[in-house]
Amino acid sequence: MQLDLLIFGGGIAGMWTLLRARQAGYRALLLESAALGGVQSIASQGIIHGGTKYALKGAVTESTRAIADMPGIWRDALAGQGDIDLSGVRLLSGHQYLWSSGSLGSSLANLFASKLMQSRVASLKRDAFPAPFDSPRFRGSLYRLQEPVLDTASLMQCLADQAKSWCYRYEPENMIVTTDHVRIGELEIRPQRVLLAAGQGNASLLPRWGLNTPKMQTRPLHMVMVRGKLPPVYAHCLGASSNPRLTITSYPLEKDVSVWYLGGQLAESGVDRRPAEQIARARAELEKLLPWMDFASLDWATLPIDRAEVATPGGKRPDDCFLGGTGSLMTTWPTKLAFAPRLADKVLEKLLQEGVEVSAEEPPPLDLPEPPLAALPWEQASWS
Ligand SMILES: Cc1cc2nc3c(=O)[nH]c(=O)nc-3n(C[C@H](O)[C@H](O)[C@H](O)COP(=O)(O)OP(=O)(O)OC[C@H]3O[C@@H](n4cnc5c(N)ncnc54)[C@H](O)[C@@H]3O)c2cc1C
Repeated sequence: MQLDLLIFGGGIAGMWTLLRARQAGYRALLLESAALGGVQSIASQGIIHGGTKYALKGAVTESTRAIADMPGIWRDALAGQGDIDLSGVRLLSGHQYLWSSGSLGSSLANLFASKLMQSRVASLKRDAFPAPFDSPRFRGSLYRLQEPVLDTASLMQCLADQAKSWCYRYEPENMIVTTDHVRIGELEIRPQRVLLAAGQGNASLLPRWGLNTPKMQTRPLHMVMVRGKLPPVYAHCLGASSNPRLTITSYPLEKDVSVWYLGGQLAESGVDRRPAEQIARARAELEKLLPWMDFASLDWATLPIDRAEVATPGGKRPDDCFLGGTGSLMTTWPTKLAFAPRLADKVLEKLLQEGVEVSAEEPPPLDLPEPPLAALPWEQASWS
């Protein structure tokens, strides 16, 4: 079978790129080894960053520049007016909050008052504070960020609905790779280009093409989930460093019941803790930061998970999404869910630059099963 683009991995990177390539007319298919929705994508906090978190360092860096356009691009898509129609995706919140538990340090206060931040961050008056910050016992400051938060399950479902006739599940161990084709059982695919978009799976796919670069790094997290009668919160708590001390996103389950999904420094610093220790640390942190709330009689669980990215000196977070290529093979790690549109643009640009032509004929459907949809972390957690 002749194909223009064969994509490996059905997370945000693979699915977004597949849809964009299809729109451009390319005969593109996607192979997934487990479930559409990915490993990291479905488990992400769904925040469409615009770089404010990074701008807290006080300077406009490469990261802040590359990511600044992303919320606008996603908002257009959510309104059904972007490159991809995301009008079916549930928006959990149109914005997030930044809160500090005490008064802001003067350098941060100055930063928030600066031109750089004025368009991104609005300081809130006390009478506009949402729950749980509306308590008279809350003494800190609160800012609103124009960065939306999405329901990752409905995002991945929406992409899968549009892409499913081009997505197949396969067993990587049944695949044989040669320089110009990929064989799975009886099926021989001859793609003009291959895109490895398999997240952490790229590390085991690259050697199948005889490559050990680009190098991948993983930055582990130990996320915490807490379930019960909790108000919806989408907020970063500012600590002493420029990395948020705690990032809370919420997922409504049933009437009044939701899951708080806890990331930030708690998750970064908790990778060596056992689940029970990490839960104890999370609970202590919440009781310290929101002391007027009752965290007894809630259910708790944790999720150890790796962020898979292109390797950087010192293992730092890459500034941008990554797309590398050798011959007909491209490899990507988007770095952020938010970067998916930018990444797909880069792939299309590369196909165009390299003169990859649209094949005349649509390939016939493959004799492979449809991949299932990935589940949210709290749908498969063991609660205590
Ligand atoms: C806990 C957490 C929270 C995050 N929060 C945010 C956030 O709020 N905002 C944000 O912008 N970013 C966030 N990120 C980062 C973001 O989730 C990732 O950058 C992005 O989802 C990666 O997408 P991906 O498609 O590369 O990988 P994945 O979503 O991991 O998808 C890779 C896919 O490839 C498949 N695969 C693996 N091996 C193979 C193989 N051999 N063949 C075929 N398929 C294979 C996997 O099954 C999977 O479906 C977060 C990350 C984590 C871990």
